[in-house]
Amino acid sequence: MSQTSIIEFIRDLYKTNEFIPLHAPTFNGNEQKYVSETIQSTFVSSVGKFVDEFEQKIEVYTGATKAIATVNGTAALHTALYMAGVKAGDFVITQALTFVATCNALYHMGAVPIFVDVSAVSLGLCPKALEAYLQENAELTENGCFHKKNSKRIKAVVPMHTFGHPVELDELLAVCQKWQLCLVEDAAESLGSFYKGKHTGTFGDFSALSFNGNKIITTGGGGIVLCQNEEDAKRTKHVTTTAKVPHPFEFFHDEPGFNYRMPNLNAALGCAQMEVLPSYLKQKRQLAMQYRDFFSGNELKFVVEPEYAASNYWLNAVICPDVTVRDELLFSTNDAGVMTRPIWKLMHRLPMFAHCLRGDLTQSEFIEAHLINLPSSPINRGIA
Ligand SMILES: *Cc1c(COP(=O)(O)O)cnc(C)c1O
Repeated sequence: MSQTSIIEFIRDLYKTNEFIPLHAPTFNGNEQKYVSETIQSTFVSSVGKFVDEFEQKIEVYTGATKAIATVNGTAALHTALYMAGVKAGDFVITQALTFVATCNALYHMGAVPIFVDVSAVSLGLCPKALEAYLQENAELTENGCFHKKNSKRIKAVVPMHTFGHPVELDELLAVCQKWQLCLVEDAAESLGSFYKGKHTGTFGDFSALSFNGNKIITTGGGGIVLCQNEEDAKRTKHVTTTAKVPHPFEFFHDEPGFNYRMPNLNAALGCAQMEVLPSYLKQKRQLAMQYRDFFSGNELKFVVEPEYAASNYWLNAVICPDVTVRDELLFSTNDAGVMTRPIWKLMHRLPMFAHCLRGDLTQSEFIEAHLINLPSSPINRGIA
């Protein structure tokens, strides 16, 4: 298959000769109306009805017990880890193949990532690799799980649902239970993705979603912490809103808090976007199937959802046969105004995470060198 035929195919999908972005937001619903309402009401900041409404919509959609809106996905992940009891000096196991925000959240709480390989099935944290790493490097004591090398506590595991494809949650949960580790899902990319019929982000006690401009729906900037019980949810909201104890006029804060609350202005955008999420999901699935059919039998292998899951197909991807093919395709598409991107550099290649402990990363390295993301914005073909 020639590079030109790929470019032509993508131009034909999007029916345009202009620049085609990787993932762009669209606002054809009630976005203008709801955002204007916040301005007219003057409730643009941390108080206002849209924040509660947005949280409720997310709860209903995901089936999570509670959703707490935050300023962005990184803040949501920071809060989720904090609530899960991760402390400065703790180790947290995650994937080397992720967006840097996963590790930034850990870094800023003084926790230290350990990198474990991803699975070829999900592109997310591999349960077998996790178990193998723990077998070799960890010991379970009365006080929890500790690293053999330096006796530091291993507190949590953070799998990330890469491009919306759900990780192998049953298997990961079993390993976490065995080793007494908290599972915190980085579900930033997976709103609308289900694992065996249950929404991603509802398996760990705490998890994080993102509504950045490039995600499946956006609030401009924003995130959500999903919690599985009311008590946790109360304290999560408390710490994200400066830990202020409710009182008609006194300022009393009973623990160190964050100012991570999502502004009403952003939540208004989110409420309108939640109304169109089901149609985006349909459009994205249709697009993914077109890519799949186009690449079938090709040397470029289209990445499909794992058989146990329904993915939101946030970003479409192909695996190239080698680095040369990958680089040629990156150059030719971007030259032609069709935006494609390689996957993120593995986390241990970044200067601030280069010293981190890691297991075997064969699969992560393979994907790093071979994967390309293709334009993935939903296409409205008038199908609702
Ligand atoms: C988008 C994203 C986040 C959070 O990003 P924000 O821009 O802070 O909302 C976290 N992890 C992953 C894997 C992401 O893709």
